[in-house]
Amino acid sequence: DLVLTPAACYHIYPLVATRGRIPATGLLFDVACDCFRHEPSQNVDRLQSFRMREYVCLGSPQQASDFRDGWIKRGQEIADRLGLKHSIAPASDPFFGRAAKLMADSQIEQALKFELLVAVRSHEQPTACMSFNCHRDHFGTKWKLRDKAGDVIHTACAAFGMDRLALAIFAAHGTDIRSWPQSVREALLI
Ligand code: 5GP
Ligand code: ZN
Repeated sequence: DLVLTPAACYHIYPLVATRGRIPATGLLFDVACDCFRHEPSQNVDRLQSFRMREYVCLGSPQQASDFRDGWIKRGQEIADRLGLKHSIAPASDPFFGRAAKLMADSQIEQALKFELLVAVRSHEQPTACMSFNCHRDHFGTKWKLRDKAGDVIHTACAAFGMDRLALAIFAAHGTDIRSWPQSVREALLI
């Protein structure tokens, strides 16, 4: 039912659901796609179409939460290697409608979503270049995803906004690639 997908991980859950029970070791996916969001804006870091790379985990509650926490650390290490000044902040997804604020508050309260922020356009409004999400049993329940024992599985994802990361690198090091720090060029293999 998703024609223009807003996130890369959404397609995995119904696909996995057609394959039966999830093994005790859990499942890991590495996916990328063009994503679309109808959020008109004049800012260069908000596009209606952008490239997202995601790592996704389906497993026990512990596996999903460990996966998310592990990727927060790895995301910070990647940003360090790219020479980006960054911070991690609790976040919420843009919910719409009457219950929106309640849902966003509860997402923050439960510490389900964190973003890695980089000052791209401004220091006052840093840009989310990565997000680390624990969905708990949301997708497991929606798509009837179960483990061998019959328990609903949990999911988590780490999402990288490729356009925003590219922008962040240019904002930090300039447009002349030859003048970038050697360590950054090595990290990018360029
Ligand atoms: P999330 O699902 O957390 O909103 O998005 C995951 C990642 O995709 C974000 O951390 C960000 O890097 C990227 N992203 C989200 N919305 C946009 C957008 O409107 N434009 C661009 N260029 N990237 C976005
Ligand atoms: Zn995702």
